[in-house]
Amino acid sequence: MKEIMPVPPAIVRNDYASIRELFAKNVVPSYGRFELVLSHGSGSYVFDVAGKRYLDLGSGIAVCCLGHTHPAITEALVEQSKKLIHVSNLYFTEPQGRLAAEIVKRIGAGKVFFSNSGAEANEGLYKLARKFGHDEGRFEILTATNSFHGRTLAGIAATGQEKVKKGFEPAVPGFRHVPFNDLAAARNAISPATVAILIEGVQGEGGVTPATPEYLLGLRALCDEKKLLLLMDGVQCGYFRTGKFQSFQRILEGVPGGEKFLPDGLSMAKSLGGGFPIGAFWLRAPYQDLLGPGTHASTFGGTPLACAVALKIFEVVEREKLDEHARKLGAWMQSELDRLAATYPTVVKGSRGLGFMLGLELAEKIPGFAASDKPAAIQFVNRLHAAGVLTIPAGTQIVRLLPPLNLKPQEADEGISKIEEIVKTLV
Ligand SMILES: *Cc1c(COP(=O)(O)O)cnc(C)c1O
Repeated sequence: MKEIMPVPPAIVRNDYASIRELFAKNVVPSYGRFELVLSHGSGSYVFDVAGKRYLDLGSGIAVCCLGHTHPAITEALVEQSKKLIHVSNLYFTEPQGRLAAEIVKRIGAGKVFFSNSGAEANEGLYKLARKFGHDEGRFEILTATNSFHGRTLAGIAATGQEKVKKGFEPAVPGFRHVPFNDLAAARNAISPATVAILIEGVQGEGGVTPATPEYLLGLRALCDEKKLLLLMDGVQCGYFRTGKFQSFQRILEGVPGGEKFLPDGLSMAKSLGGGFPIGAFWLRAPYQDLLGPGTHASTFGGTPLACAVALKIFEVVEREKLDEHARKLGAWMQSELDRLAATYPTVVKGSRGLGFMLGLELAEKIPGFAASDKPAAIQFVNRLHAAGVLTIPAGTQIVRLLPPLNLKPQEADEGISKIEEIVKTLV
């Protein structure tokens, strides 16, 4: 990146250098960060310390669902913080109860537990599965190859990617991976110890791959037959990104039998707080009381502050019909990505995804990338940074677009134009 970053004015260059220095000296280097130092944002745009503007088509990895500095979020934060920020779960508070009701209303009969992150929401699902199978000695959870479920010890054991596990052995026992969208593989993998199957409705980190309707319905029937819990990780693909609250509601829309489909447990986080940390898991009614008093807890889970913000976001999404918006504008963006694939096949192989969870699949051996050995996705994302657009790589060939749900049509157009400009230079 360094070579293509514009040279900032001297005073700002000092800012950039001094912040980089703070990180180099003081921050654990566990992230591969891009060479950008961001300072503020507004709507779909963020600005770096040099004042350069970027169209944010990544929204902080599918988190800032109303963009940056949305006045409704700011107001909810300010107003609730004047009232009550935290009291712990030793007591009842209204915002937590109301937020749980909003989530139940959008999924189905059941109950909700609040956490602070996606990995932690998934931990609750693993504990539910262990509790469910405990008296029969069943504990094993099948998850998918290329899945991603977070970075805790159980999270990396659940995640179907070797790179997250390496160096942290021994793995938490009780997780095995099966190919995604392969019902027969799931059936064949079931052992006497198996208690649950966990999948993402749309694999995110794994490269933006939606589950097929047949797979979802097939897993539901399989889990019913074998008395397994069907668990879904909706941390990235949930929250209206696909055009419906949860991805399975979109994937199964109009599919016979789809209207009755529900998982037994579902995790959420990322967009739920629009940037304020909050996670949650929903449990279907038959299992909603399995985690009884004393079995699971989180000090910060479901604070009045986090829940007030999340309630406000639901209100804005509903009022502005951002689900339909994401679906329509996402379909347009995807058709544009398909047009790029048709026009520049040596650079763009195709598109993936649903709504505002999109992947631009890059071709193998792009001529313009031959000079560097960095993965194509990283090189493409870097070029987009230079052009003033933020996107997120997934694997070596996929560039993810996870825009805020309130992205404006002209911003979508700007993003596509800038992507096309880069594509043209690579032919
Ligand atoms: C981001 C993500 C997680 C982990 O969430 P954290 O908040 O980073 O712990 C889990 N599952 C999926 C599908 C994700 O995209």
